[in-house]
Amino acid sequence: MRYVYADNAATTAVSPHVVEAMLPYMTEHYGNPSSLYSIGQTAHRAVAKARAQVADALGAEEREIFFTSGGSEADNWAIKGAAALGAKKGKKHLITTKFEHHAVLHTMAALEKQGFTVTYLDVYENGIVRPEDVEKAITDDTCLVTVMYANNEIGTIQPIAEIGRICHEKGVLFHTDAVQAVGHVKINVKEQNIDMLSLSGHKFHAVKGVGALYCKKGIRLPNLIEGGAQESGRRAGTENVPGIVGLGVAITDMTEHLEENAKKVAAMRDRLFEGASKISHSRINGDTEHRLPGNFSMCFEGVEGESLLLMLDMQGVAASSGSACTSGSLDPSHVLLAIGLKHEVAHGSLRLSLGENNTEEDVDHILEVLPPIIDRLRDMSPLWEHIMENEKNK
Ligand SMILES: *Cc1c(COP(=O)(O)O)cnc(C)c1O
Repeated sequence: MRYVYADNAATTAVSPHVVEAMLPYMTEHYGNPSSLYSIGQTAHRAVAKARAQVADALGAEEREIFFTSGGSEADNWAIKGAAALGAKKGKKHLITTKFEHHAVLHTMAALEKQGFTVTYLDVYENGIVRPEDVEKAITDDTCLVTVMYANNEIGTIQPIAEIGRICHEKGVLFHTDAVQAVGHVKINVKEQNIDMLSLSGHKFHAVKGVGALYCKKGIRLPNLIEGGAQESGRRAGTENVPGIVGLGVAITDMTEHLEENAKKVAAMRDRLFEGASKISHSRINGDTEHRLPGNFSMCFEGVEGESLLLMLDMQGVAASSGSACTSGSLDPSHVLLAIGLKHEVAHGSLRLSLGENNTEEDVDHILEVLPPIIDRLRDMSPLWEHIMENEKNK
């Protein structure tokens, strides 16, 4: 049976080029970058090169890139750090959105327990924040605005440059969780008025456990980890040299092929939308224009998302109903509730996230197996029966 991996928003396959680049840093050049002898210095140079590659891809300077263990760590550092800087000046208000990743939302919850106040902006039915809402929410006490670049469940892309401009006019720091966007859409931190940006390697064909925080020069975030002089003393600990080397290669490869990849992936995604929209009582979640190339998100009424995933898995399709963190729990996704879906509709959600490795045959396979699965699930569903009854009585 065909195996179709359609969950690239959860993680991606490491590219062969990345593996090849990483290997020598596990075997031959295993030195500690802080050591002065030559294999240490070889590792040191490799980390410096990767830092330059990440900086180049974002339009940043090398000294503005700090390697971390991934997206969650970068989000935590940026938000808690900006909160600490704000608190020193008596500013204890932060602004974010209702549909952020849990790395952001749970960090906000932790800060609320410490006496900070947080405004959660609406994202409306199209899943897009309105810049005027950001402007209205900013007060004299605001120390940070953080808005994700692209949503991980419904793929909607936010007006980042515009939000950044408003923050700068008001003298407020602006952070974006760009974990879903980096490598997939064009980003320039200077042109888009971004002060801090989080990224994660495993979402664009590098390995899990490595990421970075871009932090504009002059912003003096408190150190994340005390210890050695790594990452300018701000995030101590011997570097994940192979992971960092892979991150640099992956971001360069993705940036070089960004436009052709986006075109290819979006064409496959649009074919999925077209085919799946023929299923009755279905809806596309979020704006269709301002959207990540690989993101497909739909709801099917009278269908239970978890059962849908299990049946797709039996047909060789790896998909998701929401974020990996909410799958496994029975609560509907906070993202789908944030765009105004009713609980029973949000339960029937399906996210397919395509990537560069997917093919037209993968799309054919999904479109072949999906409609009969939905039919079968609806045949067994009391909710569907109820929906049909209601329609008859109309
Ligand atoms: C995956 C993801 C994260 C977490 O990144 P990790 O590297 O897995 O910690 C954060 N934010 C978004 C939007 C994500 O998609």
